[in-house]
Amino acid sequence: MDRWQNRVAVVSGASSGIGAACARLLVAAGLQVVGLARRTERLQKLRESLPEEQRGRFHQHACDVSEEAQVNAAFDWIERELGGVDVMVNNAGIVLGGQLIDMPTKDIASTLQTNLMGSIYCTKLAASSMRRRQVPGHLFFVNSTAGVAGYKPDPADESLNAYTPSKFGLTAVHEICRQELIQQGSKIKTTSINPGWVATEIVPDETKAKLGEVILQADDVAQAVMYALATPPHAQVEQITLRAVGEYF
Ligand code: NDP
Repeated sequence: MDRWQNRVAVVSGASSGIGAACARLLVAAGLQVVGLARRTERLQKLRESLPEEQRGRFHQHACDVSEEAQVNAAFDWIERELGGVDVMVNNAGIVLGGQLIDMPTKDIASTLQTNLMGSIYCTKLAASSMRRRQVPGHLFFVNSTAGVAGYKPDPADESLNAYTPSKFGLTAVHEICRQELIQQGSKIKTTSINPGWVATEIVPDETKAKLGEVILQADDVAQAVMYALATPPHAQVEQITLRAVGEYF
């Protein structure tokens, strides 16, 4: 991880779950981390919970990633205060349940706007910062097993029916970015992380009760991000799919 010391990592959705776990590990590994989220009080709590000697490397900025103007303002702030972005962890996401053909269209639109467009807004600005400064950075997409070909929705659980198209879209965004960066002769890496169920706030209590111990922890996913980030400059981890042992879907 030597080459990442004091480099700048932006983590969207750092106020809880997987994003908070990523932020903790990245700060501990010596990076400067900018946590983006709407709940700034949660970002502040995360900062306070860090070991004192690491606290100065965690920076927070209020940002609703579904609003392009807010993402632009956050990245302007990062350029001004920290000089640019070297690692982008696109992690912010929501789940709004219901049957796709019957649920309110505004819920489907919010899901796509946050999970897909939010990642696109952040990726464009992060990639632009990396290319302008000629930094061989790293773009991460926290996707889902729901975004991977072969995914079969559980007919007894309609919570992911609008979420699934947003994550399939993210799979396409990741692949297109990978190809475009190669076409441009860039050394920026891209990695998609596809977890199954993880014990975080996004998962309803009844689902957690049903899954019992067959569930990943946020740290498992953050460790996968750290593994891909630590690879040597010539090696690219394209995607990591991880499920709890015994998870069927
Ligand atoms: P959490 O609910 O714990 O975290 C979601 C994070 O996203 C929060 O920090 C939240 O912050 C942030 N967020 C949501 N909407 C926005 C927004 N509009 N702007 C900025 N931040 C936003 O769930 P997870 O940690 O599980 O989710 C993280 C990612 O992992 C998501 O993309 C999710 O799809 C993915 N994932 C989760 C799985 C699971 O089973 N838990 C499985 C597979 C993938 P705030 O509300 O403060 O803005």
